[in-house]
Amino acid sequence: MEHKIQAFDSVLDLIGNTPLIRLNKIASPFKGEFYAKVEAFNPGHSSKDRIAAYIIQEAEKKGILTPGSTIIETTSGNTGFSIAMVSIIKGYQCILAVSSKSSKDKIDMLRSMGAKVYVCPAHVSADDPRSYYQVAKRLHEETKGSIYINQYFNELNMEAHYQSTGPEIWNQTGGQITHLVACSGTGGTISGTARYLKEQNPDIRILGVDAFGSVLKKYHETGEFDADEIYPYRIEGLGKNLIPDATDFTSIDEFMKVTDEESAHMAREISRTEGIFAGYTCGAVMQAVKQFAARGEFNEKSRVVVIFPDHGSRYMSKVYSDQWMNDQGFFDSKHVGEGQQIQF
Ligand code: PMP
Repeated sequence: MEHKIQAFDSVLDLIGNTPLIRLNKIASPFKGEFYAKVEAFNPGHSSKDRIAAYIIQEAEKKGILTPGSTIIETTSGNTGFSIAMVSIIKGYQCILAVSSKSSKDKIDMLRSMGAKVYVCPAHVSADDPRSYYQVAKRLHEETKGSIYINQYFNELNMEAHYQSTGPEIWNQTGGQITHLVACSGTGGTISGTARYLKEQNPDIRILGVDAFGSVLKKYHETGEFDADEIYPYRIEGLGKNLIPDATDFTSIDEFMKVTDEESAHMAREISRTEGIFAGYTCGAVMQAVKQFAARGEFNEKSRVVVIFPDHGSRYMSKVYSDQWMNDQGFFDSKHVGEGQQIQF
């Protein structure tokens, strides 16, 4: 009898259905059970595969994209990688405008995946013609037959997570989830997932993670955009200097801010203790869990799902470089134990 070949048609078939992995060590000081939704198991190694595949598929359904079309996006790297990956399989051109804050690894990776990459200054306002928003907008206007994904202002970003991440978590936990803790950048992940989960059980607490230097937490609390909140920070993909339409702020119960330093150390600790090679924002979300736990958010009955957005390999020249950590001043007496002092 002929043996049927067991193979996927392409990497696109592997997007989503990422595993939930129990955090056995790093969360052991906290009350309750903690599970990480490890998005690095997507073929592009981040949660952004979901939105790239979904938004492109929706544009195809509407007949907007035709073979050879160009897809343009602004991105901190992960969305770009995912769009580049989907574009390769589907035969589109991919042009990306990225922030100069993005790690060199990420930019090199995008180029390796066939994307044309424009690197734009990180610390200029969104309406500055040099900003990656304005550069992308201009490229879109100049490139005939192109689409602009515009993840910060695209409702389909949230929709992608409403359709996939939300139901997956609900099913994986058998509806036992009590808390979702997730980073907010575009806000697509947290608000799309939250919308679905709250429809199943409105009592589920939705806890967002924001960066010091970002406006999201203050906006959530006051409804006001406060430009004084904005200053440079290191974590990529977390927080924002504008209010994204892709975030449904009403679906989020509370935000917690985390620092660059503590998030970096936490990412390293996740890798060392759980064997999950964690991206920078995995450290951020876990740091927020620690802060929420310290103020009594969780109890023995809590079943907490924490979204880990991407993979540590994207941060070899940053969080996982001792030199970089030292250059940021992140190796101080608080974090470096006796005998671990590193000389440069
Ligand atoms: N972590 C990383 C590494 C990211 O690239 C992003 C996306 N900007 C996020 C977290 C936040 O996800 P979202 O944009 O869905 O809020």
